[in-house]
Amino acid sequence: MQILVIGGGGREHALVWKLAQSAGVQKVWCAPGNAGIAGEAECLAADVGDVAALVALAEKLGPDLTVVGPELPLVNGLVDAFEERRWPIVGPRKQAARLEGSKIFAKEFMQRHSVPTAAMYGAYDSPGDAYGALCAVEWPVVIKADGLCAGKGVLLAGDPDEATEFIERVMEKNELGLGGKRVMLEETLSGRELSFILLTDGERYATLVPTRDHKRVFDGNQGPNTGGMGAYSSDELLPESLRQTITRQIVEPTLNGLAEDGICYKGFLYVGVMLTKDGPKVLEFNCRLGDPETQAIVARMDFNLAELFSELAAGKLQSDKLQWKSGASACVVLASGGYPGKFETGKVIHGLKEAEQVHDLKVLHAGTKRSDGDIVTAGGRVLGVTATGATLRGALEKAYQGIEKIHFEGMQYRQDIGKDQQQSIAAGDSRHG
Ligand code: AMP
Repeated sequence: MQILVIGGGGREHALVWKLAQSAGVQKVWCAPGNAGIAGEAECLAADVGDVAALVALAEKLGPDLTVVGPELPLVNGLVDAFEERRWPIVGPRKQAARLEGSKIFAKEFMQRHSVPTAAMYGAYDSPGDAYGALCAVEWPVVIKADGLCAGKGVLLAGDPDEATEFIERVMEKNELGLGGKRVMLEETLSGRELSFILLTDGERYATLVPTRDHKRVFDGNQGPNTGGMGAYSSDELLPESLRQTITRQIVEPTLNGLAEDGICYKGFLYVGVMLTKDGPKVLEFNCRLGDPETQAIVARMDFNLAELFSELAAGKLQSDKLQWKSGASACVVLASGGYPGKFETGKVIHGLKEAEQVHDLKVLHAGTKRSDGDIVTAGGRVLGVTATGATLRGALEKAYQGIEKIHFEGMQYRQDIGKDQQQSIAAGDSRHG
């Protein structure tokens, strides 16, 4: 089997790593890939938002299967274009990808199908209406740009000044581009977050192991939101009773709602859940795997991913094939200094080989490239140091041991990935994950 993976971040490196190891796979291409992926696949230059160019690339390569990592090509209709040509591909079509492409569409979908989520105050097409609505909300309030904004479209605003400034930046100065043309205001939920990801062929579904992401840039969940500073997976995150509640209250009404609305959903459906004191509620849907959750999930996979993907693309998902390593996994992200704000790139990365001497550890690349024989930084999130262990503590120890060997100028990372869960295990509390 020859496989083409679209994307070039840590999530795609994890997928390529696993696919390249799958029995029956002769070749993996990745477009555009990165310096780490280049060790496991042939990387090809590509603009992931350009559907016509990706179709032309696939025409030339003729892969047996294409796997899409990021949301942009999905929202732009890449799967529709491939399926019209009967080329096997993993991912939802454009209409289904609206669950991520429009937060207002997703919210209205959840309201229509009684999926528990934060209450919406309103959706606004003009900045005037959005400012006006601020006098009738409870604080803090969550403001969401409707469209894709590369993780920058959500703000938890503590007061009207902060909210006004964000609305101005998004709707008047167009800082987030088209994604910010509409905004919505919603109730702030509190609790712990859980990433609940499922895989569906439109009829059957299977759930992946549970994960938790760490969105804020600094320890103790301080500072601005990022694309994700680390994630871990441990079965203790999802006790059986919570799994049943999420299945009954969220997964089933969502899948039934999609069918009722005539939307065939094929691919990964990421459900960002807040475990509130009133039960689990949906924060967001994503139409693809999470990053860095994928790194932690892939590290626990104990099955042939290429085979699973080709069955999924053919509409024949066999959920009993998803077998997982027991224990836990953790991915700690090493980011450029200044991220998620302004940061410099081109810093030489040292110690990659030394880090991989640590047992059960893999350094997955996100923003890296080759330059004059060195591997240098090329993005905000640079590496995801990913390890497995018999326990979460063990996995984290290995990941941090590996990190000690790695260095680049300005490198920053969170020291407290997974600490919340370790504390709740120590306290004997698994009720809230
Ligand atoms: P989203 O892109 O919608 O997942 O939002 C990004 C992050 O913002 C989430 O992972 C949460 O940490 C936070 N968030 C989003 N919606 C809410 C909400 N209604 N209440 C509290 N936090 C939220």
